[in-house]
Amino acid sequence: MRINVLTELRQPIGAVTLFDLAEPAIQLEDCDLSNLSGTVTLVRTNRGLLATLNASATVSENCARCLVSIDCPVEIRFEEEFIPVLDANTGGRLPTSSADEDFRIRPDFVLDLDEPLRQYMLMLEPQKPLCRSECAGLCPSCGADLNSTVCGCAPAFDERLGILAGFDASKQKGS
Ligand SMILES: [Zn+2]
Ligand SMILES: [Zn+2]
Repeated sequence: MRINVLTELRQPIGAVTLFDLAEPAIQLEDCDLSNLSGTVTLVRTNRGLLATLNASATVSENCARCLVSIDCPVEIRFEEEFIPVLDANTGGRLPTSSADEDFRIRPDFVLDLDEPLRQYMLMLEPQKPLCRSECAGLCPSCGADLNSTVCGCAPAFDERLGILAGFDASKQKGS
């Protein structure tokens, strides 16, 4: 998501601009977002622009049990300051004294929200979404999807009793 902020950078400190966001698909390095909608507020600071993003979107995840792809709703809220590389009024290069982790506004005065968005999404992990609460998962022996197939393997243990059941079985083998 890129916004040209030349106008906003030329405004006095404290000036506020609100943008509506509607992005059908955003491809980030680690995840894909779809149907993002919300707002981003830009406030002119003494160093650059403070961007506050408020949006909802759907993110593609895999069911923790059967690995089928599912769309999960996600709320996105973050606030990051963006520092310009060039002075918006003179076009001159600004001193780069600030720390490396600052987000930069490119020399063409484009503010790119993708990197803070990517970092925010990384921070949200991990979650263990399920395609549905009663998802039967995959057979631990043959990998068959037990939601749609009945495989010939021995009945799977209840996950919560798995450790206990395994312990009992080994004791029986030894005796
Ligand atoms: Zn599932
Ligand atoms: Zn099986």
